[in-house]
Amino acid sequence: MNPHAIVIGAGLAGSSAAERLAARGWKIDLIERAHEPGQGASGNVAGVLRPLPSLDDNRLARLTRAGFEHACRHFAALTAAGQPLRWGQTGVLHLARDETHAATQRRVVEIRKAAADELYFVDRQQARKLAAWPVASGGWWFPGGGWVDPASLCRANVARYANAISAHYDTEVAHIDRPAGLWRARNAAGEVIAAAPVLILANATTARYFSVTAHLPLRAARGQVSHLRARPGSAPDVVVCRLGYVTPAIDGLRCAGATFSVDDGEAALREADHAENLAKLDFILPGYGKGIEARDLAGRVGFRPLSPDRLPMIGAVGDAAAIDPGAPSRPLAEMPRLPGLYLINGFGARGIVWSALAGELLACLITAAPLPLPDDLVNAVDPGRFLLRGRSRRQRTDSQPSRPGAR
Ligand SMILES: Cc1cc2nc3c(=O)[nH]c(=O)nc-3n(C[C@H](O)[C@H](O)[C@H](O)COP(=O)(O)OP(=O)(O)OC[C@H]3O[C@@H](n4cnc5c(N)ncnc54)[C@H](O)[C@@H]3O)c2cc1C
Repeated sequence: MNPHAIVIGAGLAGSSAAERLAARGWKIDLIERAHEPGQGASGNVAGVLRPLPSLDDNRLARLTRAGFEHACRHFAALTAAGQPLRWGQTGVLHLARDETHAATQRRVVEIRKAAADELYFVDRQQARKLAAWPVASGGWWFPGGGWVDPASLCRANVARYANAISAHYDTEVAHIDRPAGLWRARNAAGEVIAAAPVLILANATTARYFSVTAHLPLRAARGQVSHLRARPGSAPDVVVCRLGYVTPAIDGLRCAGATFSVDDGEAALREADHAENLAKLDFILPGYGKGIEARDLAGRVGFRPLSPDRLPMIGAVGDAAAIDPGAPSRPLAEMPRLPGLYLINGFGARGIVWSALAGELLACLITAAPLPLPDDLVNAVDPGRFLLRGRSRRQRTDSQPSRPGAR
């Protein structure tokens, strides 16, 4: 019999985990309360794909570089497999905010000794050519970066091994339990939707509504993107970033954004947020938004699942109830875990970049296969880190669940 897992949530996190396990011959019950994959945070028209280098090559930078490289390979594989993933490797121009930032960007390129097909610094003249717009500064040029339609990625992940994945759409999990060695996902009426030895929580901030994961410091960060109508042939045809981003035209629309407000559950579009996006757009491409009124704009609101250290949560769920607060602290490797319960979550503003690698890492952890990341990064994303003593109280217990924002 095939090994069997339940995955709750069919966004970037859940669809990636399902795809990676299905590729290994697992049977998956994928449960999603929306009518199709990619309707939550993963439902924007497009988001940005690129690494995020830093001077000290810190954990976030290393994880994001690994995620970017993995994502490019995964997207190429999905495309080669005939999946209609929508993405464009147009290149990403990340303009410097000011002279100091430009100097830092140059230094990062020198120190990192980045290959020219990965990253280089362009001066203002070169940046103007790339953007086809009179931008105010030079910056980083990522030739392999681009834009991705995240919902198409979720659909492609689910479709690639469709025979192995039983999708339950329009189905909300209200309870999880493990009465006799099998995890069960049940609806509000208490009926069992699916039962399996392995359960993966990929349901963003609502993972905190289950008692066994209520200790996780997950929060929602509301983000509003503005949709700009694009004239045929208009610039830019690369992604341009500078404290915000604007994408090339996709089906006649450009995405400009995005706002970021934590624990803000307003699902409706706000004119003030469009105005904020237009101000960002003007900082990126001076004068571009002239004549565009915030009140006329369409857009989309999403809620990013966020962890306090801005790193994702990927791995086995710690058993909070089994940890004696009076006992000496134990290392992460000795943390008691809930058998068969896993988490893939907390992607924040980087789900497009991280999800393919996160799915692969989780599948390797579950199947005890060699891991695609070094130990320090695996530990850095381990959800058990929030149960370690010695972390600040704020990091462990930050915020209460923000129910409306999680949807
Ligand atoms: C405005 C905005 C701009 C962004 N831009 C970028 C970008 O440029 N680059 C980048 O890398 N990332 C970007 N991101 C981040 C990225 O989109 C997120 O990190 C990612 O979508 C999170 O994926 P997820 O699967 O964890 O969450 P979601 O996509 O929200 O998926 C969770 C799913 O679980 C389902 N669910 C929840 N509870 C239940 C339940 N009880 N039962 C059944 N189903 C349930 C939900 O319906 C949902 O489909 C952006 C996000 C936003 C909001």
